[in-house]
Amino acid sequence: MADDPVQNLKSKIQNPKLSEELADWLEFYRELGVEEFYRRAPGSVAPLPAAHDGTPVVVHGHAPLPEAAMKPALTETKPVVSPTAPLPLPRAGASQPVVVAAPIRPPAPSLSLFETPPPKPSGPESLEQIRADLGDCHRCKLAGGRHTIVFGEGNPHAELVFVGEGPGADEDEQGRPFVGRAGQLLNRMIQMIDMKREEVYICNVVKCRPPGNRTPEKDEIETCSPFLFRQLEAMKPRLICCLGAPAVKTVLGIKEGITKIHGQFYDFATSKALATVHPAYVLRSPREEKILREDFEKIREFLKVK
Ligand code: URA
Repeated sequence: MADDPVQNLKSKIQNPKLSEELADWLEFYRELGVEEFYRRAPGSVAPLPAAHDGTPVVVHGHAPLPEAAMKPALTETKPVVSPTAPLPLPRAGASQPVVVAAPIRPPAPSLSLFETPPPKPSGPESLEQIRADLGDCHRCKLAGGRHTIVFGEGNPHAELVFVGEGPGADEDEQGRPFVGRAGQLLNRMIQMIDMKREEVYICNVVKCRPPGNRTPEKDEIETCSPFLFRQLEAMKPRLICCLGAPAVKTVLGIKEGITKIHGQFYDFATSKALATVHPAYVLRSPREEKILREDFEKIREFLKVK
């Protein structure tokens, strides 16, 4: 065919080996959909494309490459070069150094050409993402004795979040926070301030039951509390109610006795936080229910003001 550039080129080149090689290259680019080729004017030297470390990329002994393969239009745009781009294999035959630019920026190495990278997470995490990250957690020794991870439950958009100490036997059994006797007292307090349990969110400092309901140990709290902080950061409630000393110490860093500091409002990131006595403590010392009631009334007043 007279118009066939491959045949045209072959007929013009005397050296049959070189002619074959160039024909191969043209076929290769034609299969890629590149039909038009431009020659750089003699003497015009394009700037060398740089590798990522700034070193110019030069391939010696390569046949001239069509610039059209480097970019769709002949503009002043600098050629895009990526050191990870699959470069055509250098072949013997031409003596001048040849600049090779990659026509296509390749995807990340682990992805095939047809896969798109997963979207980068933007904005705050969701509780589901945090739960997924927690997984079948074995980060601390509590994992050995637990039945169920008690992540937390309730309204993910709650204005009010309760933070307890850690799951007890009932919670460990059911995988839900505050479902035993202490939980029933908490439910009554929530109802007392005209709220429903479903409106609030309830979680704990540690997500696995400490053996014999002992207080969680320092290393367990250090391992688990980042998940609590991520939950609080995800929800950004107006008010966090810390139930008992371990929650107060973990969330607010306050070591003073609860009976001294209960009912006061503290800052926690963009939220306010208040400490009160743990419902389990009130079950053991019923006279202290007064403290719990007073503090819940403060919660009611705080949430009333919008
Ligand atoms: N006590 C807690 O601190 N948390 C629970 O979930 C239950 C009892």
